[in-house]
Amino acid sequence: MSDVVPLPTTGELVGSGTEWTERYTRSVMNTFGPPRRVLVRGEGVHVWDADGRRYTDLLGGIAVNVLGHAHPTLTAAVSAQLGTLGQVSNFFASPVQVALAERLVALAGGDAGSRVFFANSGTEANEAAFKMARRTGRPRVLALEGAFHGRTMGALALTHKAAYREPFEPLPGGVEFVPFGDAAALEAAMSDDVAAIVLEPVQGEAGVRPLPPGYLAHARALADRHGALLVLDEIQTGVGRTGAWFAHQLPELGGGVRPDVVTLAKGLGGGIPIGAVVALSERAATLLGPGQHGTTFGGNPVAAVAALTTLGVIERDGLLARVREVGGRLADALRTVTPLVTEVRAAGLLVAAELAAPVAARVADEALAAGWIVNPVTPSALRLAPPLVLTWDQVAGFVDWLAALPARELLTEGDHA
Ligand SMILES: *Cc1c(COP(=O)(O)O)cnc(C)c1O
Repeated sequence: MSDVVPLPTTGELVGSGTEWTERYTRSVMNTFGPPRRVLVRGEGVHVWDADGRRYTDLLGGIAVNVLGHAHPTLTAAVSAQLGTLGQVSNFFASPVQVALAERLVALAGGDAGSRVFFANSGTEANEAAFKMARRTGRPRVLALEGAFHGRTMGALALTHKAAYREPFEPLPGGVEFVPFGDAAALEAAMSDDVAAIVLEPVQGEAGVRPLPPGYLAHARALADRHGALLVLDEIQTGVGRTGAWFAHQLPELGGGVRPDVVTLAKGLGGGIPIGAVVALSERAATLLGPGQHGTTFGGNPVAAVAALTTLGVIERDGLLARVREVGGRLADALRTVTPLVTEVRAAGLLVAAELAAPVAARVADEALAAGWIVNPVTPSALRLAPPLVLTWDQVAGFVDWLAALPARELLTEGDHA
């Protein structure tokens, strides 16, 4: 590109991985622990670090970069939008924002009563859903053990892990956790003072745990019986990740179940931050009125065009079918990696390999050194959430690499870890 204007940075953006990591440690708050690598460039399913090493990105920015890195269509659309109209505030609307709202409602099977609220991240989408639940006037909200819904105070109240929640208590009240996948426990917890049941069709952060077949339908029936909202957090599972537009549309998960509310973020903008709350029922769509919620950046034209383009490319390139094919093949191949892999849980290209010992962090480190980015989502499970454009040829080598590890050695060492 010849017309690139030099960036007004303080100093050159060059340095080794070690130099950047030292500067990171002295300038960035330590909420994430030390960075694994310093990355400088990406293209398709690959990224390069500051020392020039190439990696295959099987994590996709945590289920975000659905079109891979530097996708030409997305790059062009975002650049063109920013060069036309960027941020306008929500005193104004933009055509791309409206078109995106219409598109999301259509993909989610909504109707004339459906409405969308735009946010900037997953946790913010869930904050809005939580406020909608409060507007029912009912005090209780049910979530599941193992749930992850985000880190801001409301979403955190819906997140089960004590280590995330307890340092920040008191959190907004009324949330109760029921055992994962236990329909009878959910039924026992239901009453007419429940505002909402909040569920992930597949729990991502808990290690890719799909709800058992029939559970979502049962939750829908209970919500109907008691007049509660069924809120599905599809922040990780939405936008094609599982091989359907939304995981709850998969026959094995919830096919036919219509939630009142779906929250989205992660993959929606293909890497540009955006969140959305899709209210499918008219009741849910009218719980928040003028002045009751807002965000400065929500639904801005750049983020909206990123999402519209991402959805458009998924459709144009037939990526849902590709996700089912490559994801299915990947899961099958991982199942043959014995004795290291004991179980594979997968929905499309959201895949976890459960290992025979709590050695996931160690295996992920070794994978990184070998050029594969994967995530130790639990002490004993590796998570893969790669770009949806991934081909089998690009990932087959990872399975071979895993199979070639000295498993017995690793597993005995793991016992002492
Ligand atoms: C990542 C995630 C969130 C939080 O999204 P952020 O954009 O990180 O705030 C919420 N729910 C689920 C299921 C997620 O995977």
